[in-house]
Amino acid sequence: MTSPDTSGLASLRPRLPSPVQEVVDGRFERRGVRLLLKRDDLIHPELIGNKWRKLAPNLAAAAGRTVVTFGGAWSNHLRATAAAGRLLGIPTVGVVRGDELATRPLNPSLARCTADGMRLRFVDRTTYRRKAEPSVLAALLRAAGAEDACVVPEGGSNAEAVRGCRELGAELRGKADVVAVACGTGGTLAGLAAGLAPGQRALGVPVLKGGFLAPETEALQREAFGGRRGTWALDDRFHFGGYARVPAELEAFAADFEQRHGLPVERLYVAKLLYGLVTLVDEGALPPGTTLAAVITGRPFP
Ligand SMILES: *Cc1c(COP(=O)(O)O)cnc(C)c1O
Repeated sequence: MTSPDTSGLASLRPRLPSPVQEVVDGRFERRGVRLLLKRDDLIHPELIGNKWRKLAPNLAAAAGRTVVTFGGAWSNHLRATAAAGRLLGIPTVGVVRGDELATRPLNPSLARCTADGMRLRFVDRTTYRRKAEPSVLAALLRAAGAEDACVVPEGGSNAEAVRGCRELGAELRGKADVVAVACGTGGTLAGLAAGLAPGQRALGVPVLKGGFLAPETEALQREAFGGRRGTWALDDRFHFGGYARVPAELEAFAADFEQRHGLPVERLYVAKLLYGLVTLVDEGALPPGTTLAAVITGRPFP
């Protein structure tokens, strides 16, 4: 990154590059696949994983202005933004999907956001869906008293964020043949794939149902880099019914993985990624001799 650090981010002492750890797991070993964990969950205790990589360039661009962003009731991105606001002294506003939430006790995730000083604005689902329309956005900012704010989109994925995630790929150059990551908006995958060396490939495992992520990831790469970059593909089979769905089979898988490897497994994204990788390797989708790196993008909350 060549832009000067006007945001105090360096004072937060991120652990970068994040550590890479090899784990021995019979389900990979018997197929001749080496499994590495790229521990982005260790970058910072509160700005966790890909959220650091995506927020850091946006916070630098905000240069102290209020940051307004968007998310659902359990959004990891809202929590990370709120924590960044507290740590760096930047005012934050979170626009939350679902106006019914305003009349209930805050859930632990939103309670953490407000404890970190984030002001929450609850909007109905129709308005939330239209939040990128200029007139809707302008009204939201006016209502929040934050007209000159730096606006970061839902999930934090804009061109700056995607370019920030390119560093994740660069850190893995020469270390793996295939790098796999769980996807929400696809921003992390878009940057990761662009940062890898030729000959390395990226695999995304979407946690949302719908199969819409390939064009969105491609659009993010166009926005950030002017065109498609790197070699990447998606496997849409491991969403387990949709966002935040954690059926018993996935829960059991995640608990077992934690027991085997002493790794806290975040359920909404990382569990689905690891389940997908065990399945793919079992299917023989990766040739023997492959080194596979799984990006550990987060940590369970709380
Ligand atoms: C936000 C998040 C993701 C998804 O990142 P995208 O860039 O939106 O695809 C993956 N894993 C974890 C743990 C996250 O919090």
